Amino acid sequence: MYDISSLYQATSVADAIRALQADPKAILIAGGTDVLIKIREGRLPGCSLVSIHELGEELRGIALAPNGDVEIGPLSTFRDVTFSPIIRQHIPVLGEATDMAGGPQLRAVGTIGGNVCNGVTSADSASTLMALDAVLVVRGPAGERRVPISQWYKGVHQVNLAHDELLVKLLIPRENYDGFTGHYIKYAQRSAMDIATLGVSCLVKLSEDKRLVRQVKLAFGVANPVPMRSPAAEAAVAGLPLEEAIAQIGKAALQDVNPRTSWRASREFRLQLVEELSGRALREAARKGGAAV
Ligand SMILES: Cc1cc2nc3c(=O)[nH]c(=O)nc-3n(C[C@H](O)[C@H](O)[C@H](O)COP(=O)(O)OP(=O)(O)OC[C@H]3O[C@@H](n4cnc5c(N)ncnc54)[C@H](O)[C@@H]3O)c2cc1C
Repeated sequence: MYDISSLYQATSVADAIRALQADPKAILIAGGTDVLIKIREGRLPGCSLVSIHELGEELRGIALAPNGDVEIGPLSTFRDVTFSPIIRQHIPVLGEATDMAGGPQLRAVGTIGGNVCNGVTSADSASTLMALDAVLVVRGPAGERRVPISQWYKGVHQVNLAHDELLVKLLIPRENYDGFTGHYIKYAQRSAMDIATLGVSCLVKLSEDKRLVRQVKLAFGVANPVPMRSPAAEAAVAGLPLEEAIAQIGKAALQDVNPRTSWRASREFRLQLVEELSGRALREAARKGGAAV
């Protein structure tokens, strides 16, 4: 049922990198909620695994850096993110997004690192991380490099990560969340244990009187082969009175998105969701920011 030829438990990040270098076919496994499904389905016959599951000391946890940046270890589970006091205080929208993945058991095991390394457009944390312009810190044999999330997704299941590299930190720079409030909407056919038909994450910064939109960051999952931002929508609503922005944001977003038809929903239905949910997400984000809408 689980056709695995070997399992190596890495003892440190450096050890995991060495093990991946030694075996060009090895597969890295964290929580295993994506990898084990593939193995069970027979899609990785005879695979060898390098596990980072026990590297919690190096890779799990959420911290606030002295400069206000939020640092998230990739082995932090969905649950860790949702219940982190730092996330709740500074970036609640991210904790709300991770709270929508799967069910309670899944959220106690699946990691935020796995959610961005799998290169899947429906990943529930991905659109909010896009809206936050997260920076992904990657370590390999040559040392560390920082990848803006805008340069992370290369294609379906393809991310900017070499075979012998690990994601070691997700960084949310302070200026990317400070002063913004956000809202994530996952549209799915049922409210638990379902993958998003469409996901939209909206961050907004309002004027002092809460009537004008200063800045919006709008990102989608399943509106494109990979998670994406909508520059057209963001430009269209900057500076507008809030109700006008809510009315216009969805139409503007249609210029950027390119959803497909799948068994879950047609392209046309997803376009309708983009238009409708963008306005709703902006309204809720603004309400959380103190606007009377
Ligand atoms: C029943 C069920 C329901 C689900 N529902 C949802 C849902 O609603 N929303 C959602 O978004 N997802 C869902 N998922 C998918 C899955 O739980 C998530 O994608 C999860 O975040 C994967 O994390 P993991 O640690 O389990 O990843 P793993 O399976 O361990 O790894 C996933 C991929 O990421 C790579 N990887 C993991 N960590 C690192 C790292 N630090 N550095 C480099 N590469 C790494 C692995 O090599 C692998 O390619 C569901 C899965 C199941 C089984």
